[in-house]
Amino acid sequence: MKLIHLDGVPAPSITVSDEGYEEIVVLVMQYRRCRKRDCTFSENNPVVGVNLCLGCFIEEHTHLTYASAFGEPDEEGRQTYKYNGPKNLDRERGRNKIY
Ligand SMILES: [Zn+2]
Repeated sequence: MKLIHLDGVPAPSITVSDEGYEEIVVLVMQYRRCRKRDCTFSENNPVVGVNLCLGCFIEEHTHLTYASAFGEPDEEGRQTYKYNGPKNLDRERGRNKIY
């Protein structure tokens, strides 16, 4: 059995069966959207922050340009991405993980 929260952690938990949980995960991932503009996620617009798509992340961080995925996804399936900053500011290069 698993515990789920349908409207955030303050909501009371609901106990569901293991098979029900697996179906709920599939459904949630199917309807998952970017928190900023309700964008859908795809191979070309992946999740790069907490419920945030690549397009909205780049829009928020105009000094960064997307470079590529970095390495392999971790054990929980989260991918790290690499960005480049202005050429004269090496410290602006950064990575972030999806959640
Ligand atoms: Zn978005």
